[in-house]
Amino acid sequence: MSLLDRGASAPEENCRRLVVLGSSNVGKTSIIVRFLENTFVDTHTPTIEDFHRKVYKIRGEAYRLDILDTAGIHPFPAIRRLSYATGDIFIIVYDLTSRHSFNECQDILEQLYASKQGADDVLSPVPVVLVGNKLDRENARTVSFSEVKGLCEGSNPLIDCFEVSAKFNSNLEKIFIRLFEMAKLPVEMSPSMHRKVTPSYTGNNKPRRFNIGRKVSEACGVLQMNARRPSVATDLMVAKNRGSVKRSDSKETRRCTIQ
Ligand code: GDP
Ligand code: MG
Repeated sequence: MSLLDRGASAPEENCRRLVVLGSSNVGKTSIIVRFLENTFVDTHTPTIEDFHRKVYKIRGEAYRLDILDTAGIHPFPAIRRLSYATGDIFIIVYDLTSRHSFNECQDILEQLYASKQGADDVLSPVPVVLVGNKLDRENARTVSFSEVKGLCEGSNPLIDCFEVSAKFNSNLEKIFIRLFEMAKLPVEMSPSMHRKVTPSYTGNNKPRRFNIGRKVSEACGVLQMNARRPSVATDLMVAKNRGSVKRSDSKETRRCTIQ
């Protein structure tokens, strides 16, 4: 069975959606591109919403990570609320040279927590990492790290913060290791900790099968090209189901369907 096929049938507890939030122009897309391809582009192309899927085989088990790259805070508030409801783990990015972007980061955190509050007003803890990007422009900083640390203290126990530079690839790996640790996912999902498999495509645009079954101990991952974002209708259904069924309540291992 190919790695992509394995990813498609990963058990639900091994599938997560990572949502990357924050103001426009703070470097959300750059951080995702570093995570997926370890490259950096110096230009800014405004994102409306992008979807990526990476599947892994780690210690013999299949995992799937869906990544939602979002627009800034203002456009499409309904879609943004839906991304809070359907996301499992979150990165909220601000630009450490822009106080405005940090203020928006705090607003997003509040909105996210509000959306994760159950009917009983109890917060279901969700792993969140606050990321101050553009550390290479530290001399123009307007947000101190101690202020951000202060924000993390005493709120959700599953929150942490880092300062990074997507441009120079500094500290990026720390974000993902911490996030996966908080989400109880294998740290091998982090970029430098697994072998990257590139599916070669056959003439009819179907990925050629490749056998990765030889070494059970070796972690590997593949980026699924042209992964299609689940429809808004599917997301609405997921959000509705989550209102009544918690992941941990589910005893049976449901299979994730690939949309
Ligand atoms: P998004 O709108 O939040 O997705 O931001 P982008 O990832 O498109 O980045 C916005 C702009 O910031 C682009 O011109 C990037 O090249 C630049 N940028 C992203 N990360 C960094 C960084 O770490 N340092 C510097 N100096 N510029 C960055
Ligand atoms: Mg973007």
